[in-house]
Amino acid sequence: MALFDKFSKLAQERAALGQSGLNPFGTRIDEILSPTVGRIGDRQVILAGTNNYLGLTFDPGCIQAGQQALAQEGTGTTGSRMANGSYGSHIALEAELAEFMQRRSVIVYSTGYLANLGVIGTLAGPSDIVLLDADCHASIYDACRLGGAQVIRFRHNDAADLERRLLRLGERARECLIVVEGIYSMLGDRAPLREIAEVKRRLGGYLLVDEAHSVGVLGANGRGLAEELGVEADVDIVLGTFSKSLGAIGGFAASQHGDMELLRYASRPYIFTASPSPASIASVRAALRVMQARPELRQRLWANAQRLYQGLAGLGYRTGPEPSPVIAVLLGSAQEGMAFWQSLIDLGVYVNLVLPPATPGGQALVRCSVSAAHSGEQIDRIIQAFARLRDRLPPAAAVTDHRVH
Ligand code: PMP
Repeated sequence: MALFDKFSKLAQERAALGQSGLNPFGTRIDEILSPTVGRIGDRQVILAGTNNYLGLTFDPGCIQAGQQALAQEGTGTTGSRMANGSYGSHIALEAELAEFMQRRSVIVYSTGYLANLGVIGTLAGPSDIVLLDADCHASIYDACRLGGAQVIRFRHNDAADLERRLLRLGERARECLIVVEGIYSMLGDRAPLREIAEVKRRLGGYLLVDEAHSVGVLGANGRGLAEELGVEADVDIVLGTFSKSLGAIGGFAASQHGDMELLRYASRPYIFTASPSPASIASVRAALRVMQARPELRQRLWANAQRLYQGLAGLGYRTGPEPSPVIAVLLGSAQEGMAFWQSLIDLGVYVNLVLPPATPGGQALVRCSVSAAHSGEQIDRIIQAFARLRDRLPPAAAVTDHRVH
């Protein structure tokens, strides 16, 4: 079979999409006017499909820091830190993140995806076992493949299922790596981290929490779900990204483990890719300062998240199980999902469309992400757009119990 033949089904799907005039996975945003407003074609839209939780992409201090670094250190590093060396700013950011996260070691990667690949894919080799929540992000699954670890999935957010599987492992449970997320990216629900930490304390292994969506969002200081629930001491490694609340690109891993630093020398996704650009690093350093200096951003984010969640649930939409800055609205088939998504754009609201099999439960969903930068009026306009579409939905999508788990 020729290499490209395997895409024939995909080609058919793309052709069918083309005929319907919809292109949900090739959206061109022609202009970004602010953290919350863009232009698609001739239509101005409220951006409710970003992960710009604190709205820092347009923070004047972050932009200035990025511009200054661009002018002083250039457009890119042109190589990996292992081969070409680290810039002072990479090392300074790692020290600042270590202080913020209250962990001894922090390693910065070029994306959050690579941080997962670099840590999980290096720590867990062919003779190791990774127990992961079934809804974990693709980067976590890919990381297990990279390292060749044996993967055991446990039911989403089910600490009792994790416990059963650890018990079955006997002595080997003590060496395995358990991976969960702080806030799950599809439904916006949180891990039952107290229960998981308790199981880990009794039977496990090491615990890694991917706080990509929860750093800056949860916890009194914004360190994530583990901080919010008071279980940081049980978490061996925290994964984070710069691409969400910190408004740039890059990722990091933080740990207290004495040998964490050795990962740099063994982690292929650290060694064999270019390090983050000076502008990116500088804006993240500034964003980290803003995040700490302005806790009111987190309060505003949550006020907006509550408002949108209550508004959509109040309209009878099936949302994720709890208020969150990630608010999923479950729809029916892929066709219904696509039509709904396009209608929202026509009404001036941009959200993300996610189709099965990428969705839990096999249903199409649209995912709204809320920002501290949204005004109350923008949140209300998003709710109004959903209200206008409410009656167009098939009855299956309209249930009074909006909880999906
Ligand atoms: N982990 C989780 C849970 C994510 O949701 C994402 C991105 N959506 C990543 C890792 C990857 O982060 P990045 O975009 O920085 O590569």
